[in-house]
Amino acid sequence: MTSNDAPVRYETQGNVAIVTMNRPQYRNAQNSAMTYALDDAFYRAADDDEVAVLVLRGEGKHFSAGHDIGSPGRDIDTSFPRRAGLWWDHVGRPGAESRYARESEVYLGMCRRWRELPKPMIAQVQGACIAGGLMLAWVCDFIVAAEDAFFADPVVRMGIPGVEYFAHPWVMGPRQAKEFLYLGERVDAQRALSWGMVNRVVPAEDLAEHTLSMAQRIAAMPRMGLALTKKAINQAEDLMGMTAGMDSVFGLHHLAHAHNAEVGSDSLAGQDARSMREARRAAEEPGR
Ligand code: ZN
Repeated sequence: MTSNDAPVRYETQGNVAIVTMNRPQYRNAQNSAMTYALDDAFYRAADDDEVAVLVLRGEGKHFSAGHDIGSPGRDIDTSFPRRAGLWWDHVGRPGAESRYARESEVYLGMCRRWRELPKPMIAQVQGACIAGGLMLAWVCDFIVAAEDAFFADPVVRMGIPGVEYFAHPWVMGPRQAKEFLYLGERVDAQRALSWGMVNRVVPAEDLAEHTLSMAQRIAAMPRMGLALTKKAINQAEDLMGMTAGMDSVFGLHHLAHAHNAEVGSDSLAGQDARSMREARRAAEEPGR
């Protein structure tokens, strides 16, 4: 695999590591190959004394359209050496056991561990930031969005109460979270800013430069001071119930997957990328 078709690219600019999701032809849909490549990149940045701050970005027009539920590189039946926890391999396990093992590792477990990376991490978001894409933006310390960025978690259409890393009520407030989930509609960057979910909105052409400039100014702060500040705020967020809340909702999430599988054909209520897109269009453009 050349660096051009690797699912994640890693580069540095001075003291800033830039981690790029690199499946633009699939709007950076996340398969497990990408998840583990992201984990490699974050480890590398954590271990490199020259790196003070990370920027997470997506190649192409979109940050990430979510988990891979339909590209040719979808790899949900592939084993990877597990890193986020000690749940056994999901491959070949029956029913809910497989899903629970897999999602504990590659979704909730990975996101939790990335949130704890002891260096500041900024999400640089343009275009789509949908469902699993939100999880990646939310584990970053904050979000800089282009004016064309939009955010949505449409998985209630699958009968599922939100994505696996259930940070919604903490990153936007409970009432906004209900609207966001009940409607599943796109929220644009300005609205996300007014909800407190993103920090800054900048013209698309300035996005990379603006984010890098912030990262460089943060990088001038002392390393230990930044690491402790991040931990302090994460701990405060946990005291507001985020981690315990997420754990309890993860059970509801898997109840939903299991219910779908029990009453229908699969754990996603028969939805795939195409049917989700068509449902959204039908909802947004009635009569089309
Ligand atoms: Zn799930």
